[in-house]
Amino acid sequence: MEDCVFCKIINRQLPSKIVYEDEKVMAFYDINPVTPVHVIIIPKLHIANVNELTEDNSYVMADIHLAAQKIADKLGIAKEGYRLINNCGEDAGQTVFHLHYHLLGGRRLGAKII
Ligand code: AMP
Ligand code: ZN
Repeated sequence: MEDCVFCKIINRQLPSKIVYEDEKVMAFYDINPVTPVHVIIIPKLHIANVNELTEDNSYVMADIHLAAQKIADKLGIAKEGYRLINNCGEDAGQTVFHLHYHLLGGRRLGAKII
């Protein structure tokens, strides 16, 4: 996808601080972190958001979660805990239309979801 910021990060057309990468998934530090650990996890396959998941591409959800597990371990927050957030669509505040999960942690986030 030519105009997609996250595809450009995958293709190294834009810089990023990569935390994790394998053949199907990439993760990098959010440019505007809201917690001490704030990582964006994306599939390398361009999928706009959860609404665009299908039987054929939904394997990326498992890939993302397995990557999250490895990243949390690598960054030392697996035991303490972390939150995975997905924004789908404008009401949710989605600004980048390439499926992604925010991995948030490094401090107590509290019981409230929002
Ligand atoms: P969302 O509101 O879920 O679409 O969040 C998109 C996230 O991507 C925001 O937290 C942004 O700070 C982050 N973001 C946007 N552009 C970049 C970039 N070039 N590198 C790293 N993070 C980015
Ligand atoms: Zn994309």
